[in-house]
Amino acid sequence: MPISFYEARQKILDTVPLLSSERVPLLEAAGRAIAEDVIASQPLPAFDNSAMDGYAVQAEECLIGKTLPIDGYIPAGKTLIKPLEPGTVAKIMTGAPVPRGANAIIPFENCQEQQHAISPNYTVKKGDHIRWTGEDIRPGDHIISSGTVLRSAEISLLASLRIATVPVHRRVRVAILSTGDELQEIDEPPFKGGIANSNSWAIATACQEVGAIPVMLGIARDNLADLQEKIKEGLQADLLITSAGVSSGDRDLVREVLATHGVTEVFWKVKIKPGHPTAFAMHNKTPVFSLPGNPVSTLLTFEEFVRPALLKMMGHHSVLKTLYQGVWAEPIKKKPGRLQILRVSVSFNQDGEILLKSAGDQNTGILRTLIKSQGIVLLPADRDFFAAGEKIDFHLLGGSTAIGY
Ligand code: AMP
Ligand code: MG
Repeated sequence: MPISFYEARQKILDTVPLLSSERVPLLEAAGRAIAEDVIASQPLPAFDNSAMDGYAVQAEECLIGKTLPIDGYIPAGKTLIKPLEPGTVAKIMTGAPVPRGANAIIPFENCQEQQHAISPNYTVKKGDHIRWTGEDIRPGDHIISSGTVLRSAEISLLASLRIATVPVHRRVRVAILSTGDELQEIDEPPFKGGIANSNSWAIATACQEVGAIPVMLGIARDNLADLQEKIKEGLQADLLITSAGVSSGDRDLVREVLATHGVTEVFWKVKIKPGHPTAFAMHNKTPVFSLPGNPVSTLLTFEEFVRPALLKMMGHHSVLKTLYQGVWAEPIKKKPGRLQILRVSVSFNQDGEILLKSAGDQNTGILRTLIKSQGIVLLPADRDFFAAGEKIDFHLLGGSTAIGY
């Protein structure tokens, strides 16, 4: 019995395993989900330091018009610093430690130096332009939660705290197997009736977009022996994706061969369009996705089902794309019964609202519509009509991060 889109996705997310973690240098960790909470063991800043190039002063002594001689020069990185003598100031550079006895900085641009002395001409407040120890991060602060993707901001903080390696979940090694007698590798001379194996490349790229490692298994022909051998190899990976051969045709042998390998099917057929024959199964701890062969169906089912599974396995705490709301531009009819995965263009209208339009012919044979789309709308199974002006949820597609065309 076909199951609903949301049921299918939930079953997948409930089933896929979390991969083990490994400790890697920061640059290798960037873009991946950290596998543990990070608690600060030291303060940031580590010492009181100047936020400006200027003069370290004692605020209470800075009476307007009073002359304060300069006694000392503190460049950034200086370690031995004498305390500030009462009645004097010290020249100080940004990032340099504030000397004992000083409690404010007067920036160069706020006063004139004359004969090796300064005369404040405004009221200096205690704490002016000083970055105090621990004002950003205090020891014991919970600064990054397990499952957070390490962007440049998190890497900056980790590096500031001198954390050089972090635990992250392993990247998923994804075996990719295309199936079909008609398929040819893209560098082979075309024969009549031959179809270029584009799915392996498309799936591999989509895997890389989320940080998984594609393992290309090439093409299995529509016969039991070839499928047996290549599926066996694929089951060695962390996850196996097959494309095509999963419908009800007499050459659609993928599920039959998976079953002979002791793979337990979780579901087959989902009430969606496109992507109806999608199957999902488990072989011990290895998830197996059997995606429909049509290139549009393959990529859309990857986007909606495989992508969140990969992120979950790699320990991400947000695995589903953020849903935004846009205004539907033109009326659209659909048959009730299946959720439609609609390829849409995303732009802004004159009022600055997000405008969603069908990106073109929604026939599953039209790859060009996928090229022209930046977003996906999941039209609910039970609806059959959407009016222009309706507010509708969408998410950005694949590697798209920006709106506006
Ligand atoms: P099937 O699910 O085996 O009936 O395949 C559905 C359609 O997808 C057929 O037109 C296939 O030729 C096409 N197709 C299957 N596998 C691939 C692939 N790896 N690359 C491009 N097209 C494919
Ligand atoms: Mg086929």
